[in-house]
Amino acid sequence: MAQHSPLPDWAIEAEGLVKTYAAGKTSPAKQALRGVDLRIRRGSIFGLLGPNGAGKSTFINILAGLVRKTSGTVRIWGVDVDEHPRQARAAIGVVPQELAADVFFTPRESLEVQAGFYGVPKSERRTEAILGALGLSDKADSYVRALSGGMKRRLMVAKAMVHAPPVLILDEPTAGVDVELRRQLWDYVQGLHAQGVTIVLTTHYLEEAQALCDHIAIVNRGKVVASEPTPQLLSRLDTRAVVIAPQEPLAAAPIINGFDARLRSDGRLAVTYKTGQASVEQVLAAARTAGVGIRDLSTEEPDLEDVFLALTYADETQPSPLQD
Ligand code: ADP
Repeated sequence: MAQHSPLPDWAIEAEGLVKTYAAGKTSPAKQALRGVDLRIRRGSIFGLLGPNGAGKSTFINILAGLVRKTSGTVRIWGVDVDEHPRQARAAIGVVPQELAADVFFTPRESLEVQAGFYGVPKSERRTEAILGALGLSDKADSYVRALSGGMKRRLMVAKAMVHAPPVLILDEPTAGVDVELRRQLWDYVQGLHAQGVTIVLTTHYLEEAQALCDHIAIVNRGKVVASEPTPQLLSRLDTRAVVIAPQEPLAAAPIINGFDARLRSDGRLAVTYKTGQASVEQVLAAARTAGVGIRDLSTEEPDLEDVFLALTYADETQPSPLQD
């Protein structure tokens, strides 16, 4: 009988995580993680968002035990990876980025082999249930090479689930996948989440993180620059700007009651407001009250990437001595 320890609040906890890849013959040493502090709550769908080269895969590979951290601590499901590496890693299933197809196996065989690899006794294997959950029952006995790309990806998720880990980690699950397949994969991931699996996924698509994740951490150049519940992060995107070409040139931005106003170098005045809190009309009324005559105006929506850029830009000012 397995001992029931209390469920941890945090599925993953990393503190001061640093990874420096050693210098190669032609490449200098590379600091891929520069002190990552990150906590991932049990039961969440957590998005690790960042541009290529940010350090997402390095982070995940450290969790998976594929990359050795330089320093810092990592706990998986409450277990320190240095103290109890096997126990810690038994709590996660990792779906790697590359499609690694076992062309000589059928999906059913592939799952059985994987279960054997994890030491799951035959009586405890859930091969049929997993095949079913990932929509692979029909193809259980086909050769993997005969499967579509989407099925191969689902098989990779299935393989990561054979030891029933409470945490599933997906590295860029939909990179290079068409829109329809992406939706399908999202459905499966959400299904696993509904069954109680904590999901961590990396992506460089804000849209994907936004659609799937209840919490998003933004990673840039080896650091976490934001980690917030998705609605909170997105609320920063509510900002719109009314850009006013004034009738008379302005020497400085006037104080416009209740709004942030900035004078642009082209002489136009950009007044920002939150869509949930004010309307264009209110902005214009306030501008008029402040004595600004309006010759012309336009409105601007921030690009979805704006928050991301704003957050990552701040970090550019702290170059690492090891950065290229
Ligand atoms: P992401 O997954 O966010 O694209 P990575 O973790 O793959 O980022 O890479 C982070 C940085 O570490 C990049 O600058 C990358 O070039 C470097 N890097 C990754 N793997 C290695 C490696 N095996 N050896 C040297 N540098 C590496």
